[in-house]
Amino acid sequence: MAHKVTLIPGDGIGPEVTQAVVRILEATGVKWEWERYAAGAEAFEIFGEYIPGELYESIERNKVALKGPVTTPVGGGFKSINVTLRKKFDLYANFRPIKNLPGLETRYPGVDLIIVRENTEGEYVGLEHEVVPGVVESLKVITEKGSTRIAQFAFDYARKHGRKKIHSIHKANIMKLSDGLFLKCARKVAEGFPDVQYAEHIIDNTCMQLVMNPYQYDTLLLENLYGDIVSDLCAAFVGGLGLVPGANIGVDCAIFEAVHGSAPDIAGKDIANPTALLQSAVLMLHHLDETAAAEKVQKALETVYAERKTLTRDVGGHAGTSQFADAVLAAM
Ligand code: ATP
Repeated sequence: MAHKVTLIPGDGIGPEVTQAVVRILEATGVKWEWERYAAGAEAFEIFGEYIPGELYESIERNKVALKGPVTTPVGGGFKSINVTLRKKFDLYANFRPIKNLPGLETRYPGVDLIIVRENTEGEYVGLEHEVVPGVVESLKVITEKGSTRIAQFAFDYARKHGRKKIHSIHKANIMKLSDGLFLKCARKVAEGFPDVQYAEHIIDNTCMQLVMNPYQYDTLLLENLYGDIVSDLCAAFVGGLGLVPGANIGVDCAIFEAVHGSAPDIAGKDIANPTALLQSAVLMLHHLDETAAAEKVQKALETVYAERKTLTRDVGGHAGTSQFADAVLAAM
């Protein structure tokens, strides 16, 4: 039976990297039925809606989506499509593995980190208003429910996958109530997991510690905004944003997307690295219990990196997006 998956190619480099990844997924032997939808500015032009109603219905039906980046206007304009979808389907866990690929020389070899980012609250609730001209208030919302379930997700993952240590990352010395509640919930969940070490680090110190010695960390548990920022920092350990995959996971739906954005500076040139979305697709294959296909794609990807012949520019090569996909297909 074919897997029905909602496909959102997105904009910027989205369509290029999505096309490359779909070609590879089609060659795994797994059967797919893609339901394609535009989102963001492109959807608005066609449907007069940034997220068409049919797209919501498709995700509700299929429970799984593969998504390219969708541009969010800065400082005004429509609300982030990514944030809206995460909220709508209550995709509370943002899971981002940071791991070196063989053959790719980076400043830090052998990094193996897991980022677990709370995905629905914090500063991302979008509650901002101008109190009087020149004064703006922005609310950060932290709840016991939201903090407990993300901590539970991190500890469950750690236990299931043999991860040794979880660090809660916070700024509870300043945000005593909000970050204080996040920590309180994490500590409570940690009590049920004596097999997983638990520690707490302040966010600013964590950034310094990560750059000094990323190997001291195993799994990082973070609120929404801290997770966003620390993910990009950690992407640099393994070769940049072109590589790091992500999964947005809820109780019954999941959306798989790369950590990077729409990269307008390189869009439409066939030079973007599709690895991040491809590794997100590998996470999706595992989620769909297509373990053999997931391993096949990951192995082919690693072969291409180990050979170092067909790499994209962001990681020191000369290959284009489609050429890179051809190399992965050949390795498969
Ligand atoms: P957003 O706020 O939407 O997450 P961003 O500000 O983090 O976006 P990106 O669009 O992710 O920005 O791009 C940041 C930099 O990384 C750009 O210089 C871009 O070209 C580069 N980059 C991002 N993704 C890729 C990719 N897949 N391949 C090569 N370079 C990339």
